[in-house]
Amino acid sequence: MYDIIIIGAGPAGLSSGIYASRLGAKTLILEKLTPGGQITLSSEIENYPGVCEIKSGLEFMACWPEQAKRFGAKIKSEEVKELKVENEKWIVKTHKNEYISKAVIVATGSTPKKAGFEGEEEFIGRGVSYCAVCDGFFYKDKIVAVIGGGDTALEEALYLSKIAKKVYLIHRRDKFRAAPSTQKKVFNTPNIEIIYNETVKKVLGKEFVEGIILSSNKEIKVDGIFVFVGMKVNNELVKDLVELNEWGEVKVDLNMQTSRKGLYAAGDIRENAVKQVVAAAGDGAVAAINALKYVEKGE
Ligand code: NAP
Repeated sequence: MYDIIIIGAGPAGLSSGIYASRLGAKTLILEKLTPGGQITLSSEIENYPGVCEIKSGLEFMACWPEQAKRFGAKIKSEEVKELKVENEKWIVKTHKNEYISKAVIVATGSTPKKAGFEGEEEFIGRGVSYCAVCDGFFYKDKIVAVIGGGDTALEEALYLSKIAKKVYLIHRRDKFRAAPSTQKKVFNTPNIEIIYNETVKKVLGKEFVEGIILSSNKEIKVDGIFVFVGMKVNNELVKDLVELNEWGEVKVDLNMQTSRKGLYAAGDIRENAVKQVVAAAGDGAVAAINALKYVEKGE
């Protein structure tokens, strides 16, 4: 029997693991892939306070699992298939084992949807990005394309317009679904050029993105492509156990407690997440401290 089982080993899950195990909780972290999470896809991390040396996402996350293990947390490469609660004990089933704990922290994150153009996967971290706050700075005075027509695409296009020289906003229809007030700001931003009724067909470039070919076969020179065509919240394990908001994100209180006693959520899976490593790590600490209080007091 574990005190706390953490599902997901990105920044939120690993931070939970470090805090929980250091505070003395018998802790298990389960991760279906390699520990590190989505941030390991980022080419450079330069905004994590206190870490002045610029590192790749992979380098940056390398020692987090070791730190958790140092305090006694166990990390296993197992995909969780089912989560249920019986007599206030959590039963966590993976593809090969069943574990029991007094509390669970779910930190399975969210996954950006892919637009589906040729070269999209290949150029991730080399000009194709899913995070303007993370990577926008690298395009200072350069030309970027933003794909999508929702709130995220338009808000991020506005954000990028303050950094880049020019932003092409490429949408597959002739109407945006973003809020009218955001659309108005976009229409009034001189360095955003809107391209309606087009999708990106293919990336051009050798080592880094150098341009794109649109569905009409028109070629445009761009230095970067930002894809914002929706996010998939990885809520499959908890969607029938807890309250979600209209976008499928898990509702939590300030203790990261979900609507279900003993079940906590941290990082990008929870509502209002700003989708930054530092915030996910903070969530992880909050969730671990409060989960352990729950385990010790049973409340
Ligand atoms: P979204 O609203 O689902 O919009 C996705 C956009 O991507 C749509 O315009 C869609 O086109 C386009 N798209 C989807 N697949 C595509 C593909 N394969 N190729 C090209 N374009 C594609 O996603 P979101 O913008 O991430 O927002 C998600 C939710 O969060 C929304 O409900 C949104 O309102 C909310 N949100 C709110 C705020 C805020 O309140 N400030 C900020 C961000 C997000 P179509 O329009 O043709 O379907």
